[in-house]
Amino acid sequence: MGSNHFDVIIIGSGAGGGTLALRLAPSGKKILILERGDYVPREKANWSPKFVNLEGKYQTKEIWKDKDGKPLHPHTNYYVGGNTKFYGAALFRLRKEDFGEIKHHGGISPRWPISYEELEPYYAEAERMYHVHGERGEDPTEPKASSAYPFPAVSHEPRIQALSDHFKNIGLRPFHTPLGIQLDEKDPRKSKCIRCETCDGFPCLVSAKSDAQVCAVDPALKYPNVSLLTGAKVTRLHTGNSGREVNAIEVEVNGEKEEFSADIVVVSAGAINSAALLLRSKNEEHTHGLANGSDQVGRNYMGHVNSVQMALSKCPNPTVFQKSLSVNDFYFGSKEFPFPMGHISFVGKLDGETLKAGAPAIAPGFTLDLMAKHSLDFWLTSEDLPSAENRVTLDQNGEIVLSYTPNNEEGHKRLIAKLHEILKKQTCDVHGAHCHEGLFGRNLFLGQRIPLAGVAHQNGTLRFGDDPKTSVLDRNCKAHELDNLYVVDASFFPSSGAVNPALTIMANALRVGDHLLDRLGAKAVQMQSVPQAELASGVKA
Ligand SMILES: Cc1cc2nc3c(=O)[nH]c(=O)nc-3n(C[C@H](O)[C@H](O)[C@H](O)COP(=O)(O)OP(=O)(O)OC[C@H]3O[C@@H](n4cnc5c(N)ncnc54)[C@H](O)[C@@H]3O)c2cc1C
Ligand code: SF4
Repeated sequence: MGSNHFDVIIIGSGAGGGTLALRLAPSGKKILILERGDYVPREKANWSPKFVNLEGKYQTKEIWKDKDGKPLHPHTNYYVGGNTKFYGAALFRLRKEDFGEIKHHGGISPRWPISYEELEPYYAEAERMYHVHGERGEDPTEPKASSAYPFPAVSHEPRIQALSDHFKNIGLRPFHTPLGIQLDEKDPRKSKCIRCETCDGFPCLVSAKSDAQVCAVDPALKYPNVSLLTGAKVTRLHTGNSGREVNAIEVEVNGEKEEFSADIVVVSAGAINSAALLLRSKNEEHTHGLANGSDQVGRNYMGHVNSVQMALSKCPNPTVFQKSLSVNDFYFGSKEFPFPMGHISFVGKLDGETLKAGAPAIAPGFTLDLMAKHSLDFWLTSEDLPSAENRVTLDQNGEIVLSYTPNNEEGHKRLIAKLHEILKKQTCDVHGAHCHEGLFGRNLFLGQRIPLAGVAHQNGTLRFGDDPKTSVLDRNCKAHELDNLYVVDASFFPSSGAVNPALTIMANALRVGDHLLDRLGAKAVQMQSVPQAELASGVKA
């Protein structure tokens, strides 16, 4: 075997690929990560709403198409660490019930082939690895956990605390959002995280966000058997004569064509790109795309039904780090609506510059800055259901086409209505019961659905399952039709729940990692949280 042969090649260094790399690193096996992007450059623009949100400086410039052939500019990022470099680091476990079949207003959310209990130890490990801060027992829908959160919950600033108190007073159970940021509130001088307003959607200039580069790829690269090739875009996978094994990986390395091979090949390019890669890799044995005898590759795309709801109150909202509060009381429904509605939380504090990029139907006479100064900026997530026609395909040039028709929208509408209802009940010392009647007599809420281009929560295009006729991957996330091809990004989800996906991707990558270590005859090493944290105090071991 030549120098381009490895024991394991991982394609993509995000939540799935990066986490797996660290899991496999101590095995001593020769591992290569192929990543199409480079490191996010460290520069002041990292924290600039103008560069990041208005100009989309770090987003891919690729143009895909939607189902009508219209150009679609995806809001996604190709860098070491993948989209976790930009994520809001809200690191949730799916609910135990999400692993079973759930009846929604718009249809059925299918059962997973594994149970919550099978993933639980890996959730606990992923929480340690990604330094999650939270408080067990507050979230009424939280599944049973084998350990406390490794770090204490991130505190609310006064405006958010007042809202939390209000929600409690009206009988809800608001809770602290579990967050992967390396913040030490007891010793701010030594804390890596400075609790800034440019976290959700921005790369962290001081490497204090628990992203896959900081918490997984960098530590994996400390092992001499692990290497990373950046600027390496995988264009095609080839199979040998039997069609059962990937025996060559075609890569464009900074524009030049190169070939690599590995005993085990793991695709983790993100749910849309991974499906596209398998479709592009069709050959004589796999005429409809690699591992696609079931015709399931690319199907069942999900991305959550997401909205931003800006509540423009009379009181200003001077909060810096807003993403600390969540409400799950309506996750599974309510008395009046016995179907799941979803999850209420926050985006990072919006500002005038960011609003220029996609201001929800702005009221005349308002400046965007004034709106942003008075807004509470909620993020609402409801589950969308897997549907065969919501899918990734390729056009005649091999470029991505993303077809999607929203489904299961009633629960989301109800969730928005619930938020309006519970917020309007809040009083304040200055305006009494009138604070949430809207700013200067105008409507309280400005809302916007996240459009198709907002593919941040993409998942589900290569779902795992026990039946090769209805799934692409088996329960170990190995392709049913190939002996050495695995997938560990968000594509394996058979359903998406209504909480953010990254912790589930990370936990699953650790689980698949253990299977691969077994297969490679190597031992698992438990993930620890502290090596690169340098947190001084206030840390629960
Ligand atoms: C603004 C934003 C905020 C978010 N906030 C949250 C949050 O608060 N909580 C949460 O849970 N989730 C959040 N997410 C979603 C989260 O980031 C993703 O769910 C997660 O990163 C997906 O992991 P992945 O491994 O599937 O893919 P990614 O992390 O996207 O990794 C895929 C990697 O593959 C690489 N790649 C793609 N194609 C190729 C190719 N052909 N060859 C080689 N490499 C390739 C990419 O460059 C990338 O590095 C957010 C996302 C965004 C964009
Ligand atoms: S310093 Fe803290 S709050 Fe600011 S981007 Fe980094 S992790 Fe996020």
